[in-house]
Order: sequence, then C-alpha cells, then structure tokens
Amino acid sequence: MIQCKTIEEIRKQVRHLKKEGKTVAFVPTMGALHKGHLSLIRSAKAHADEVVVSIYVNPEQFGPNEDFEDYPRQLENDIRSCENEDVTIVFTPNDEIMYGSGKKFLSIQVHELNEYMDGGSRPGFFEGIVLVVNKLFNIVEPDFAVFGQKDIQQVQIIRQMVEEFNHAVKIVTAPTERAEDGLALSSRNAYLNREQRIVAPYLYSALKRVEEKIRNGLLEPKAMLNKQQKELKAKGFENDYLNMFSYETMKPVGKLEKGKTYILAGAAYLGKTRLIDNIILDL
Ligand code: AMP
Repeated sequence: MIQCKTIEEIRKQVRHLKKEGKTVAFVPTMGALHKGHLSLIRSAKAHADEVVVSIYVNPEQFGPNEDFEDYPRQLENDIRSCENEDVTIVFTPNDEIMYGSGKKFLSIQVHELNEYMDGGSRPGFFEGIVLVVNKLFNIVEPDFAVFGQKDIQQVQIIRQMVEEFNHAVKIVTAPTERAEDGLALSSRNAYLNREQRIVAPYLYSALKRVEEKIRNGLLEPKAMLNKQQKELKAKGFENDYLNMFSYETMKPVGKLEKGKTYILAGAAYLGKTRLIDNIILDL
C-alpha cells in the first residue's frame, strides 16, 4: 500500500494506475475506521481494480460548537486497517495541503436539498462536505466513489453535485453496517458511555417500528412518529428529528403515496453525542 500526503504525490500515483488501464474507486473518510468504512472499501473493490481511501477530518464541515477538536483520530490504526483490506493508496493530507493559504475567494452554496434533516440542524455542514468532496474528486479523479447510506442526505447532495458540476465519477451507495444490537456503526459511537451505548440502538428500533406500520398500510405516520419520539425521550434521548422525507427532495412528507420512495430518518442526542439513522422505504 502506498501512503500519499500531498496532492502531487497522489495525482502521480493515480495517473500511473490509469495509464496501466486500471479503474479506480475512491472512499473518502474522516478516519477512526470501523466496519462500516471497511464495507465501503469492499464495495469499492467490487467496482474497480484499485481502491483509494482518504483519511481527513475536514474542519470546514464542523460548526463552531461542534466536536472538531474531540473527533477521534487514530491514523496509525486506520493505515493498518487499510493495509489489511488491500487498499492501493491511502491519502492522508493535512489542513495546509487541503486548504493552503486559507484565503477563499469562492464558496459553494447548497440549496433546497439541505433545508431539512442534518442540513436543517447543522448550518454550513453540507457546504463543508460539498467543498471537500469536490476538492477530493478533483485531486483523485476516481472512476467510482463509494458513500454510506447511513448519511443518506450526503449521498443525495453529492449525486446532485456530480451532476451539476459534471464530475466524471459514478457514485455508489453501500448499505449501513450495524452492531449486533442494530446500532448503526459510527466513529462518534466512541463518545458513548456504557449506559448510553445500551440505550443507543433504540433509535433504530424506533425507525423499525414506524417502518413496520407503514409496510402494514399506514400512510399518515405523524402520530406514530410522535409516539416514537416520546418513547425515545423517555429513554434519555434529546430528539432532533424523526420524520418521513421525500427521497428526491429531502423535504418532509406528511401523507405517503404508493409507488413512491421515502426516507424514514431520525437524529437524536445521547448526552453530547449526535446519532443519526435511516431506512429507505420503497412503497
Ligand atoms: P465518515 O468517516 O463518518 O465521514 O464516513 C465516511 C464514509 O463512511 C461515509 O460515506 C459514511 O456514510 C460511511 N459510513 C459511516 N458509517 C457507516 C456505516 N455504519 N455503514 C456504512 N457506511 C458508513
């Protein structure tokens, strides 16, 4: 495995692979790699000859009161995990490499798709993501890029970015990897104390309960969603949102229609830890 720290190095390596006729799949991450990330790497391998993983905690996507400083960083372990997964190149830039002089004359705005869900709760979050992924796509120039369904709004916004900015990359979505008790794996789960870790899977159970009702014919799930939010609160969660969203517009939907696709998504805090999860519902 090759580790590249600069843009020049990784460009050279990727271009060398392409000259040999190899296809490249890219997995952008913020490190603290877990089985969810590893499943993305395996999916990348299934799509292309070579796999590039980036590990970079992007300051631009953290709000002023968010956990940028505390975000788990374990580069040596991550590099070992990539090596074990037969990754071809791991890209580990620093802030100087990614953002250079820090002078910014241009910025990217995200419209519509980020009004609700995580975009609604975290101002600037998706602008930061679109900025860094845009830069990473320009640096790596991959044939494929793999993203996790766990961050479904991110997937939809990146797909839109690829279309509007004409990136020559195909976006692949990989399913959410879970712990045995159903909790979606996340680098932030490391923040949970023992009691919170026991309670954490209830977010997914709440989604599953709403899903079951909808699959049994419920088309106006508002009361059911409210009930689940109350139950989560009783368990110690501080709710952010629990709602049905349109798959295309990422906007909340009150009344469901057969034949359409929806995202049943929730976000809630346990102490300071923000958990998110979702289920895609094809009615
Ligand atoms: P992050 O390092 O949290 O920025 O995540 C990097 C990539 O891994 C994103 O595409 C995430 O959606 C994906 N990811 C994070 N957690 C999971 C999971 N539990 N299952 C599948 N993919 C995940």
